[in-house]
Amino acid sequence: MIAIRGATTIDRDCPEQIRERVKELLDEIALKNGLSDGKIVCIMFSNTPDIRSLYPAKAAREAGFYDCPLFSAAEPGIDGSLKFCIRVMILAEITASPLHVYLHGASVLRRDISQCINIAIDGPAGSGKSTVSKILGKKLNILCLDTGAMYRACALKCLNEGIDVSDAESVSELIVNTDIDVGYTDGTQKTYLDGKDVSVEIRKPEISMAASTVSANGSVREKMVALQRKIASKTSCVLDGRDIGTNVLPDAKYKFYLTASPEVRAKRRADENKQKGFDTPYEQILKEIIKRDEQDRTRLIAPLTIAEDAILVDSSDMSIEEVVAFIENKIQEKI
Ligand code: C5P
Repeated sequence: MIAIRGATTIDRDCPEQIRERVKELLDEIALKNGLSDGKIVCIMFSNTPDIRSLYPAKAAREAGFYDCPLFSAAEPGIDGSLKFCIRVMILAEITASPLHVYLHGASVLRRDISQCINIAIDGPAGSGKSTVSKILGKKLNILCLDTGAMYRACALKCLNEGIDVSDAESVSELIVNTDIDVGYTDGTQKTYLDGKDVSVEIRKPEISMAASTVSANGSVREKMVALQRKIASKTSCVLDGRDIGTNVLPDAKYKFYLTASPEVRAKRRADENKQKGFDTPYEQILKEIIKRDEQDRTRLIAPLTIAEDAILVDSSDMSIEEVVAFIENKIQEKI
C-alpha cells in the first residue's frame, strides 16, 4: 500500500467550487497513478478553517468516489498558511511510486513537483526510444507517453473496420468518431480504443506499417497531437515519438533525437519480437524498417526529422544503460 499526497485551493468558499476543485484533484491523482478498479483504500482530507460551506469528503462522494471510506477534518488556523486550501492523502493498493499532485494556489507548496517538465525523445523505429523513455520516466518519477501507441490504435481501428489505411477520406471519417485514450496502471501506459484496452493487440508486427501510413493523415495527426498536448500540459512526462520536438511540443526544454543504423535497429526489433512470440525473419524486419523510415521521413505533415535544438544520440554502439546515463547527464546540466 502507498500514500499519495495532493492539495488544491479554491478562490472563495462556495460549494460549487469545492466540488469542482475536489473532483479535479482526485481525477488528476487517479489518472497519474492509475487508480481504477477499487485500488483506493481510503481518502482523507484536511482543509483550512476558512472553508466552511462543504466538507471536501462530501464533495468527493458526490464526484463518484463512494466505494472507499472518506474522511475530512478542519486544520487549525496557522498564521501565514495558504488560504482556502484543501489537502488530501490517499492510501492505495498500487506498487508504483506515488505521483503527488498540487494544483492551483497549492502548487507553491511543492514547487519541486508542480513544475511541468516535458522531455521529447524522437527517432526512427527501433532506435530504443521506448525502452529509454520508460527507464527515464521511472528514474525521474514522471509519466512516460508512448505517442506511437496512439497511431497504432488508429491503425487497428481501420484494420478492424476493413478501411484501407491509405484511403485518406475514409480514414478521416472513421477517426472523427473514434475514441483513443491512454491511462496508467502501476506506472505502465495502457492504450484504449473506443474504451477497450488494446495495449497488447497494437504491438502485432502488421500494425507497424499500417500505423505509419495512417499517421500521415492530417485528421489523425490533428486529433492525436491535441491529446498529446493536453496530457503534456497537465503533467511532467517523457514523450517518445517522431515529431514531439518539432511539432507537438516545440518549446519542450529537453529534446533528444535517438537513432541507430537500420541493421542494429532491425536486430533489436527481431529480438524484441521473438520475446513477444512473433518470429519474424530479420531480413523482413530490416526491409520494413527502411520502408517505414522512408515513409515517416517524407510525409508532408510533421515528418520525422531532427529538431534544430535537439541533442542527437546515435545508440548503434551504446547499451541502453549508456544511453539513459547520457540523457540523464544532459538533463542535469540544463536543470
Ligand atoms: O513508435 P512506433 O513504432 O510505435 O510508431 C508507429 C508509427 O506511428 C510510426 O511509424 C510513425 O509513423 C507514427 N508516429 C508518428 N508520430 C509520433 C509517433 C509515431 O507519426 N509522434
